[in-house]
Amino acid sequence: MEKEMIERYMEIAINEAKKAYKKNEIPVGSIIVKNNEVIAKSHNKRDNTNIVIEHAEISAIIKANKKLNNWRLNDSILFTTLEPCDMCKSVIKESKIKIVYFAANRDKNESKSEVEKNVEYIQIENKLLISEAEKLIKDKFKELRKKWINISQEIKQRRNRKIINYFPGNIYLYNINKEGGKKFHVKHKQYI
Ligand SMILES: [Zn+2]
Repeated sequence: MEKEMIERYMEIAINEAKKAYKKNEIPVGSIIVKNNEVIAKSHNKRDNTNIVIEHAEISAIIKANKKLNNWRLNDSILFTTLEPCDMCKSVIKESKIKIVYFAANRDKNESKSEVEKNVEYIQIENKLLISEAEKLIKDKFKELRKKWINISQEIKQRRNRKIINYFPGNIYLYNINKEGGKKFHVKHKQYI
């Protein structure tokens, strides 16, 4: 596909990611193109729907399936603002999509996984679009981290518990017993 077309489609996917940003989701957007026509657009909705599979890619694939009345998307191309996770890669492989263009890189240290076979994952070349997609995610994490630091401080004051770790979405706590020692009881709570 021509570079200009790739970039135009990625811009549409980035617009979808912005919608997720506004909904306080991790901002990822995806679109599916068939015969130079956008047949599905979606973004990450996992926190709002509380449905684990509501990632942008899967959500867009389901929309395309419904539109075409076909679960096979052989001739379709997926554009997504973040390199897909393994769950989405499995669904992409299952859907028979053969080409995926992505912008931001996913942090990963695993080698090429089983689910990447027969699918070509191509990072777009346009650095501006890559950093736009990355920045959306970084900004959202910064925002969330600030929020969760405040929440964790509150909890710390309210309960005699020590926060051992936190990251967006999750706070890990353990109880402190009367002697001040750990109870080794790790709690995993979610705050959205
Ligand atoms: Zn995913």
